[in-house]
Amino acid sequence: MLPKLIFATHNQNKSREIGALLQGVMQVVSLEEIGFFEDIVENGLTLQENAKIKAKTIFDHSGLNCFADDTGLEVEALHGAPGVYSARYAGSEKSAEKNNQKLVHELSPFSNKSARFVTQICLFLEGKEYYFEGELKGTILAEPKGTEGFGYDPIFKPLGSDRTLAEMTLAEKNTQSHRAKAFHQMIDFLKEKYANNSL
Ligand code: IMP
Repeated sequence: MLPKLIFATHNQNKSREIGALLQGVMQVVSLEEIGFFEDIVENGLTLQENAKIKAKTIFDHSGLNCFADDTGLEVEALHGAPGVYSARYAGSEKSAEKNNQKLVHELSPFSNKSARFVTQICLFLEGKEYYFEGELKGTILAEPKGTEGFGYDPIFKPLGSDRTLAEMTLAEKNTQSHRAKAFHQMIDFLKEKYANNSL
């Protein structure tokens, strides 16, 4: 039997996606499958802290191997804002459109439009803590472009690209995204550890 790994997210799409990538190596289990329906309060001051809060909450609850991710957009001229507050930058309603408008407005006085997406993963495995990071560098546009993706995708143009993330298919975004890079690092680590079914 494959070793189980809980993904501390309520997002079923994310769980399925990672489950497919770890097929034959580990069995990815969702929070719903372990009967955990509460929202975890993400009150950390960094992305890494928030990832740890989520993973530790589930580890303490279940005693099983688990991991969590947290992502933010860091804008250079704004000293790393919105960062850990990316989801609720323009308020608790978490509107992507309002977040984008606020960011474009705050950034308008600056000529430096450089930014990066960062994903942090915290993994609790056999009693040890591991961290993985992925980043995607780019620039913030004054006008949104494209209808794919979510969040800040319409105003984020990766370095070397002539399109925003919202003008790319999910498959294209996945070849370079911060999240994909962080997940692939963790997956490579887990494959090396468990590919021969050492458990
Ligand atoms: P989460 O940690 O994955 O929930 O991401 C927190 C917030 O960062 C989201 O609500 C979005 O506003 C933003 N975000 C995360 N990943 C992306 C992305 O790939 N594209 C655009 N925005 C993102």
